Amino acid sequence: MMPHVVTSARSFDVVVIGAGPAGGYLAGKVAAAGYDVALVEEHREIGEPIQCGGLVTPRVFEYVRCKETIIGAVHGAELFSPSGRRLVIDGHHTQAVVVQRAMFDRAIATDAVRKGAHTFLGAQAQSARREDGRVAVSIDQDGAPRTLRAKILVGCDGVRSNVAKWFNILRPRKILPGFEVEMTGVRGDAGFVKLFIGNEIAPGFFGWIIPSGDTARVGLCVGEGNAYAYLERMLQRPEVKQYTKGAQPILYIAGGIPLGFPRRTYADNVLVVGDAACQAKAVSGGGIFTSLTCSDFASRTVIEALEANDYSARVLHRYHKAWTKSIGKELRKDLAIHESFARLRDDQFEELFDIFDSPEMRLLIEKKGDIDFPSKVGWALIKEDPRLLKYVGKALRAMIVKNVVV
Ligand SMILES: Cc1cc2nc3c(=O)[nH]c(=O)nc-3n(C[C@H](O)[C@H](O)[C@H](O)COP(=O)(O)OP(=O)(O)OC[C@H]3O[C@@H](n4cnc5c(N)ncnc54)[C@H](O)[C@@H]3O)c2cc1C
Repeated sequence: MMPHVVTSARSFDVVVIGAGPAGGYLAGKVAAAGYDVALVEEHREIGEPIQCGGLVTPRVFEYVRCKETIIGAVHGAELFSPSGRRLVIDGHHTQAVVVQRAMFDRAIATDAVRKGAHTFLGAQAQSARREDGRVAVSIDQDGAPRTLRAKILVGCDGVRSNVAKWFNILRPRKILPGFEVEMTGVRGDAGFVKLFIGNEIAPGFFGWIIPSGDTARVGLCVGEGNAYAYLERMLQRPEVKQYTKGAQPILYIAGGIPLGFPRRTYADNVLVVGDAACQAKAVSGGGIFTSLTCSDFASRTVIEALEANDYSARVLHRYHKAWTKSIGKELRKDLAIHESFARLRDDQFEELFDIFDSPEMRLLIEKKGDIDFPSKVGWALIKEDPRLLKYVGKALRAMIVKNVVV
């Protein structure tokens, strides 16, 4: 089916800025309920440029039907300590899959179009303001300015969200810089992701190799600094080179992971969702599952508001309440876990490897590990070996008291 091509300025029930997973999914849900939805994307091609490793749990397919975008399956992880020591965790069955991210985003947006959403591609939202109980959004589509009016504006415009800025909603406390290179010819068991930990490799986060079909994505995020320079150094390390020696780059990917827990993700006539609302997991940087989960909550609130003809912050607040009381609880814990680990020294990471390198601990990780809910295995590990308490920060310690009986 051909997408609708809209040639004149007009009014919509909902204007969604950003055709990533959060925006595409929400546009489809609201359009399927019979409302007029515009999906505005600044790039001409949805899904490009890619800014992602594409690692997700099969749970995402409870939201979106695009399994054809899967290019690999992962059942375990090989973790490398700062000194290069290796710890293998094998879940023995599929724990996560790797998707071709551009195809994934395109499939979600295509579904939205099938459900009736109108796409505006090559269209950058440049400003938005509230007027007469509606929102007017100024966009520039291939040099032509136009205005879209909406009852509700949804900012799914990613980590540097302008919608959030325009409506004074929130700014992420910090954006972790990330850099990734897709390489061909990377060796190693494609059933395992490889994670590289340590302050020389990736201070404040970690490095990774994610097998992705015929290629692999080799990348890292850091607490601060030049992620590209760190990646270049990471590629020289023997524990990384054993996989990448002779491999060739085919694509460079830069991006950022938003950190923080927003106090408010709504305003009169406005919601922000996904990376725009800092809804990525601080432990892993993964944000596709959480964006879709929150987008589902947002779409329900948007439909309720449209049915009630009430777009006030009082009604739109329901979305904020819904996501903070569900997936938000995990995101808050992930932030505390991240903050604990981001400040550890290399010798402390080595001690942690000592603790984890026991059959009991490995079994626990294999049984309870879940990349969408990392805190679950965290609590179980602390129960199993309270020595771990030594490594946790103040915020996490307070949560542990509530969650774990030690
Ligand atoms: C290096 C790296 C690796 C990652 N790897 C993974 C991973 O393996 N698994 C995982 O789950 N997550 C991963 N993530 C996180 C994941 O990419 C994001 O959490 C996810 O894309 C968030 O989806 P979103 O829809 O909120 O935003 P995005 O996917 O960022 O989409 C936002 C969209 O808005 C558009 N936009 C922005 N401003 C405007 C404007 N003014 N006008 C019009 N359009 C606009 C952008 O072009 C973009 O298409 C990674 C992130 C990074 C940086």
